[in-house]
Amino acid sequence: MTEYKDPLHIPSSELVVEYYGEEVMLLNKRLLDQQNAWGNLQLLKDLHWERIRIERTMPKLDANKTLLLEQWTENQFALQRAWGFPEDAKFHRFWDIPSCGCPKMDNNDAYPTGYYTKSAACILHRHQLK
Ligand SMILES: [Zn+2]
Repeated sequence: MTEYKDPLHIPSSELVVEYYGEEVMLLNKRLLDQQNAWGNLQLLKDLHWERIRIERTMPKLDANKTLLLEQWTENQFALQRAWGFPEDAKFHRFWDIPSCGCPKMDNNDAYPTGYYTKSAACILHRHQLK
């Protein structure tokens, strides 16, 4: 049995992020330990809830994708802060966002170098091409 630092002996059920009754993810105990982030448990759950809301709204036809993309990026930075990581856009896996048409395999291979490829055909990122 692995001993976790979890100071409050929080049951695993408390690590579940629910989205309208659906269990969508489980926070990583090992990472909570490693980052000593137990004090931010509720914040982390709230931020992941927000991430899921953004990612599920994105594919809707009438969604304001530019606004959602800004919210998604801000949410990624907030998650990095809550986990105790430095804010660093290199670790934002934007190609995993629903509606993103940028090359997934190339970007998975390049992760986390920051040298990512954006596609002129991507409705989310084509405006960011220089
Ligand atoms: Zn894209």
